[in-house]
Amino acid sequence: MNIRIDDLPVRDELRGKSPYGAPQLDVPVRLNTNENPYPLPEPLVERIAERVREAARHLNRYPDRDAVELRTRLAEYLTRTGGHRVGLANVWAANGSNEVIQQLLQTFGGPGRTAIGFEPSYSMHALIARGTGTGWISGPRNDDFTIDLAAAEKAIAENQPDVVFITTPNNPTGTAVPPETVVALYDAAQAAKPSVVIADEAYIEFSHGHSLLPLLEGRPHLVISRTMSKAFGAAGLRLGYLAAHPAVVDAVQLVRLPYHLSAITQATALAALEHTDTLLGYVEQLKTERDRLVTELRALGYEVTPSDANFVQFGRFDDAHEAWQKILDRGVLVRDNGVPGRLRVTAGTPEENDAFLDAVRELKKEQPV
Ligand SMILES: *Cc1c(COP(=O)(O)O)cnc(C)c1O
Repeated sequence: MNIRIDDLPVRDELRGKSPYGAPQLDVPVRLNTNENPYPLPEPLVERIAERVREAARHLNRYPDRDAVELRTRLAEYLTRTGGHRVGLANVWAANGSNEVIQQLLQTFGGPGRTAIGFEPSYSMHALIARGTGTGWISGPRNDDFTIDLAAAEKAIAENQPDVVFITTPNNPTGTAVPPETVVALYDAAQAAKPSVVIADEAYIEFSHGHSLLPLLEGRPHLVISRTMSKAFGAAGLRLGYLAAHPAVVDAVQLVRLPYHLSAITQATALAALEHTDTLLGYVEQLKTERDRLVTELRALGYEVTPSDANFVQFGRFDDAHEAWQKILDRGVLVRDNGVPGRLRVTAGTPEENDAFLDAVRELKKEQPV
């Protein structure tokens, strides 16, 4: 019998939907998912093996449910780099920041509640909202993809959302949100009704500006979400974390699965945190390459959105999907996020970026913009 998803008694809001995911194609140059192009350095690989071997000796037991050592080290990293002192009680970790966001929506969203995001932005926010039964409101942006503050404040006042998402630097457009805008949106959200504001800082290490961490002071409804998938070059590890008032950390305990973070994950993340200086060295190289992509794309006549991340949004194309295909035909995979007329390219190694720039140079000859 040929049974498909929609023949099953799935929830109404999941009917006819497709799962999230960029096409994973086997091409020479893959610049489509904002991963770090550099493999982990060998001394770190050795350290992971050591820590995992030690953890393996205790796999008959459940892991530390509260991940105390890991959260302590994450808090130290945040304090050292974020311009604001946080401790164990302010930090929570899960399997990728996607799980952090899911736990936050399970805690502060859910059936009968709503979340707002300013689109185009990270599409997983809306998808996790759907998965947790949280209503989704699509907020506005300006033509240059910055947040239209007046329109955003109005949307918050009108809709009274329970959760507000601010992605900074924003994905897929690349630009960071000024702290004043975040404060204004936080105030607007609190005026409408006490709601949680989630600042998704997945790319903050690549930014020209600073983390929003100091804004946590006196703002108990602000949550800053982070990940080791991008700057730390550890997308395969699946480790995300948040910083917030300790009460927020207590609240997510109500929904987290017991022992959600495996002993192997904790051991691997701890090893990576011992090597932050090396890993952040790669971030500097990637920022230089990102700036080169911006400069060279502009020199070719493309319109480029200012980037604080490890990727660059560029255009305009009459038909972005056709341009995506033509770049792919030249062996380079970039991302079509569905933003009209634009594509997104991840900063890779210098060689990968050269291959990309060659491809768009040829494209430009074919279709002058
Ligand atoms: C990549 C990305 C994440 C990372 O998700 P993980 O689950 O930590 O890998 C989170 N937020 C945004 C905006 C991203 O682009």
